[in-house]
Amino acid sequence: RAKADGRGISRFFEPAMDAAIQTRRGVELDLGTALAQEQFALAFQPFLDLSANRIAGFEALLRWHHPVRGVVSPAAFVPIAEETGLIVPLGEWVLRQACREAARWPHAVRVSVNLSPVQFRGGAIDATVIAALREADLDPRRLELEITEGVLLQDSEATLAMLHRLKRLGVRIAMDDFGTGYSSLGYLRAFPFDKIKIDRAFVADLAVRPDALAIVRAVTTLADSLGMSTTAEGVETEEQLAHLRAAGCTEVQGYLISRPVAAGAVAPMLRCG
Ligand code: C2E
Ligand code: MG
Ligand code: MG
Ligand code: MG
Repeated sequence: RAKADGRGISRFFEPAMDAAIQTRRGVELDLGTALAQEQFALAFQPFLDLSANRIAGFEALLRWHHPVRGVVSPAAFVPIAEETGLIVPLGEWVLRQACREAARWPHAVRVSVNLSPVQFRGGAIDATVIAALREADLDPRRLELEITEGVLLQDSEATLAMLHRLKRLGVRIAMDDFGTGYSSLGYLRAFPFDKIKIDRAFVADLAVRPDALAIVRAVTTLADSLGMSTTAEGVETEEQLAHLRAAGCTEVQGYLISRPVAAGAVAPMLRCG
């Protein structure tokens, strides 16, 4: 095994793998200075309330404007930021920035922020949320925190206690990417989410696979009876939208409605819609 002999490790790597490791190492090093150098920005993607036909809020999505690499997607750097622990100060920056932006919007719609499981480990995420709300003077009811099943997989008792504490602050809690992990139904029983975001994978298959439609219908019915709302992610076609409307989905989000936009584009969008 490569592990047994540290000096022999390089023999086991293909050149392509070597390049991937170099890139990763570069990203890791650059991430360390990116926050101080203000290379991060938030993009905002609206979600539409289907019954009111109105924008109900915007999800904050992190963007890294790397001086050489250009815009780096969160899929490429969030996992590294999680491993190095940088996600904690970075996630705090996202929360503060998102609340500050939302406080300036012309209508009191919601702002959604994605939280990493790592942010729950320190046990102080509630203090960070309180500080961000207070600093921006934002009504807690306007803040929605998106968590994934990964959050509930770790130390579930402490995590559930923290989720309840957050909910008592008046913020909303959403389950993101629903249906992609496992034991999803158990989680719905363990915690009263305000909203379930149906993963893009199901939405993409809506028009082509009858089982996807059946699943979406079942999830909206279940959510409804549990007093939770639903948001379909990744809506790209009118056909998908029609299916989601018929299935009784509460909100939709996706390129069909709008791609994520720069912070400055939010206010004009709210004034028009
Ligand atoms: P997510 O929270 O599930 O966000 C949805 C992703 O789907 C976003 O990608 C969005 O741009 C993309 N998307 C939206 N509509 C469509 C569509 O119609 N079609 C397709 N193909 N894609 C669509 P993005 O911005 O690259 O973010 C990817 C993931 O990175 C997010 O998934 C979230 O898990 C994570 N992420 C983003 N911002 C943050 C953050 O501030 N903190 C943490 N911890 N994670 C974040
Ligand atoms: Mg999300
Ligand atoms: Mg999602
Ligand atoms: Mg996703």
